[in-house]
Amino acid sequence: MDVGTASGRQPQVAVLGTTSWDQFLVLDRPLTEGSGAIVVDRLEASGGTAANLAVALARLGVPPLFVTTCGDDDLGRRLLDELHREGVLVHALPPRSGTPTDRCTILVTPGPERTILWTPGASLRLGDPLPLDRVFMCQIVVVDVEDAALRQRLVDLPAHVAPRVQLVGPLTHLVDLQPDRATWLALQHDVIVGSDEELRAVTGCDEFEAALTRLREMMPLGATRLAAITRGRAGCVLLTRRQEIRVPAFEVAAVDPTGAGDAFAAGIVYGLLTRRSLPEVGRFANAMGALATRAFGARTSLPTHHEITAFLQEARPCA
Ligand code: ADP
Repeated sequence: MDVGTASGRQPQVAVLGTTSWDQFLVLDRPLTEGSGAIVVDRLEASGGTAANLAVALARLGVPPLFVTTCGDDDLGRRLLDELHREGVLVHALPPRSGTPTDRCTILVTPGPERTILWTPGASLRLGDPLPLDRVFMCQIVVVDVEDAALRQRLVDLPAHVAPRVQLVGPLTHLVDLQPDRATWLALQHDVIVGSDEELRAVTGCDEFEAALTRLREMMPLGATRLAAITRGRAGCVLLTRRQEIRVPAFEVAAVDPTGAGDAFAAGIVYGLLTRRSLPEVGRFANAMGALATRAFGARTSLPTHHEITAFLQEARPCA
């Protein structure tokens, strides 16, 4: 289904959040406390969870309005140039003087786990002059801001100004809050998307199944109608108030899982926009995640609509 947005038309999706600069250090062995490792390769690339999601949507032919801010430096200008080149409709708030661009150093070791060292930089804050009229004209608004006070304000707004807008909330930036606060904030989004670990952190449960049970119990008390939880090679779990489905991941020659969760979240947004059935939304999002793992960097191997359509015709579920 083609949901392409011609330039100049109202975008269907708005994304609010951070854009950052990623440095990947490829190490020769798994990291253990107190021991060293050799850096066998390094590369740098644009990243940031919200920016990756925005680029993933643009590649699928749904360029979103992306509201962000960068540092007052060359890196910030490079990041914005690249987003423009990808076709993202960028609304960048002016950099605060002297604030550096947000950066991550990602330690890539053999095996699926990644260690991310984050140097926080410029990000959206409560009180920033956001283009809220344009944002809430979109059908879907992805709220991926770090500042919990701004997030609270953004989830409070649609009930008053745009009740038909669907709010999608990645869990990434909620994991540092106290579980009670994080759970209530999460449940104010219509849709939440996150990983197994993020769900456990947000609910304060050690076990995945216990976290799912807690979410299932809490969902009727909040606004959330769909929770999409990722589990790497084990695929995803989609939870609504009435059903739970588990969708297997697809076989792929995975090289680097960085950004798979962002691609998956973009797949969920695309699936909702194109009004697919729940299992189809899960398949599409899993395919996005799988394809994103094919190369180093969060965006390098994000697919076009044509690529993912071809992949879905041939792909085999993981055993
Ligand atoms: P995050 O990056 O948030 O930790 P995951 O690693 O769980 O997210 O990946 C998101 C989705 O990407 C998974 O649900 C799965 O569908 C897909 N995916 C990730 N890693 C693989 C893999 N090695 N093989 C196949 N699919 C994968």
